[in-house]
This record gives sequence, C-alpha cells and structure tokens, in this order.
Amino acid sequence: MHDGSEEAVAPIPSPEQTFHPFRLVYILGTGRCGSTLLDILLGAHPDFCSTGELTQLPMIAHGAAQPCSCGADLSACEFWSQVVADVERQFPLKELDAGRQYEYTRSLLRTAVLLGVPGSAVDRYSDRLAVLLGSISRRSGRPIVVDSSKHAGRGLILWRARRRGMDVRFIHLVRDGRGFVWSKRRVVDGQGLGLAPRKRSVADLSTWWVISNLLSAILFRGHPGRYLRIRYEDLVASPAETLEKVGAFVGADLSEVIRAVREQRPVAVGHVVGGNRLRFNRALVLKPDTDWLQHLPQADERTFWGFAGWLARRYGYRTRAEDPTAVVERSVGSGTT
Ligand SMILES: [Zn+2]
Repeated sequence: MHDGSEEAVAPIPSPEQTFHPFRLVYILGTGRCGSTLLDILLGAHPDFCSTGELTQLPMIAHGAAQPCSCGADLSACEFWSQVVADVERQFPLKELDAGRQYEYTRSLLRTAVLLGVPGSAVDRYSDRLAVLLGSISRRSGRPIVVDSSKHAGRGLILWRARRRGMDVRFIHLVRDGRGFVWSKRRVVDGQGLGLAPRKRSVADLSTWWVISNLLSAILFRGHPGRYLRIRYEDLVASPAETLEKVGAFVGADLSEVIRAVREQRPVAVGHVVGGNRLRFNRALVLKPDTDWLQHLPQADERTFWGFAGWLARRYGYRTRAEDPTAVVERSVGSGTT
C-alpha cells in the first residue's frame, strides 16, 4: 500500500474546516457480513459516530432518494444537511459522488497507481473524503467516525487521507460464506431498502467471497495496530469477548455497550446511511438468526465449499458433517450487511 505520510501536505483551505484530531474506524468485508450491526453497536458508545455505508451519501447529489435511519430522506435529514452544507462550502457534493468510481474492486489497480500521484483525481478525492469525515466528527461532536462501506478501494483512499490528521483503523469483518451466499440468494422484500440483489451463481458469489476477503487482508494487514480481523459469528455468539477485543483495538472502553448487549437493552440507532434494514429499528437488540442453516440448499453449500472451503477453513469454519454443533453455535446472529 502506498504510504503518503512523508509528503508535505497543503493546509486545509478554510480555517473553519480545521480538524480536531479524530479517528476513523473503517469496516472491511464482503457485503452481508454484519457490518451494519457492528457499526451500530460501536455507535452506541458516546465517542463514536456510526454512519453506515457512507459511500452512498453523495448519491443524493444526483437526486437519488436515500433514506436515513432517522426516517427522513438523506437530503432532508437535519444531521446530514449540516454535513453536506459544510462540504459544499469547499466543493460541490457531486465531486464526492464522482470519486466513488475509484472505490470499486474493478478500479483497484488504477486507484492504487493514482494514489501515488500527487494532485491526481484519486489523491484529490482522498482529501475531499477527509473534509467530509472531519465535518461528521465535528457536527456529531464525536471523535471517532465509523464507516462500514467495506470496499477495499475506499480503504486505500481513506488510508491516504490520514495525511489530513485522521487516525485510520481497519476492522475486517468475516462472515461464514454460506451465510453470505444465502443472504445474496434470498429475495429482498423491497420497501425502499434498495433493489433486490442481482441473480449471481453460487460459484460467482463464492469466488467473490474469496477475492473480497483476500483483498481486505492483503492490502491492510501489514499495518501493525491498524488491522483487526474478527468473525461475525463470534460477534453475535460471544459479543462481550469480541467487543472487548474491538475496544482494545480502537482505543475505547466498550464496557457500557457490552453491558447493554448482555442485558438485551436496546441500542439507539443514529443517522445511518445504507446497509441492512435493521438500521430502521430505532433501537437494536442482538437476536438469533439461523436462516441459512435451514434454507441454504445442500448443493449450494457443496459448491461454496468447493470454491472457497480452503479459505473458510483458515477462518475456522467447518462443514456441517465435520462439526455440526459448532456451525449451529456460531450462526446465532442478527440480520447482516
Ligand atoms: Zn438522519
């Protein structure tokens, strides 16, 4: 990964945009890996601002009606209106929308090359993301911003943006690929929550699961203290132990959040963009969901294991024949994105 920390950095143009030191926690992973759940759980701590799939926010620049978790459209939400106004004092929001093209996996090579070129479109995009994140931190009054957009390309761009005074940490959230495959195959019921997923073969989905997880690991694990890999199944089956690990990694005491989860107290949801429908619950309680175990066809499970079993095994997953108890135990969870 390119490291731009040695370069001289031009000052932020407007004094009112000066950052106070703040931290970004970026959640990496495949889709449907439980990132919205982790994002919202972190947001329950008073130092964290949970934003969801922040990459979707600039889509309002071209009139896409995106609902915020508070119930308003993003363009009408009070919090996001303030943030967008901050951004637009510096540059048009549509520039952030245009920059999204550099986040996709198909653009990864181009993004990596351009990141090393001062003044390139990707370099400028990383500066613009820093302005957006600084505004979110300031407007929320919270020093740690959580973004669960998951794209590895965006992770690279955000890593570059730390020149602007951010402390960036990556949490790679892995979910059992069989749960991921089932989540992508099932029908989404609509209701303004986004389009139903494209029909993709189990082989395609399994391959994507491998590529996406490998990219997240290869690109970011080389930074000691900046990369943590956890499993969704551990988060939902052993939330206390997993959140303790996360808390130590991000430098925050999550014991209050752990207590709320343990006592099944609802966790309040702030202004979350994109992601799983569970963000529309005004308050979230961790609950079991063993959907894929009942519904994923055995043929699909065999196909997944054929393509991706070698990596799944490295993450500690086992076939049902090998370890039926552990599979069931690990699959207790809530809705996933
Ligand atoms: Zn809102």
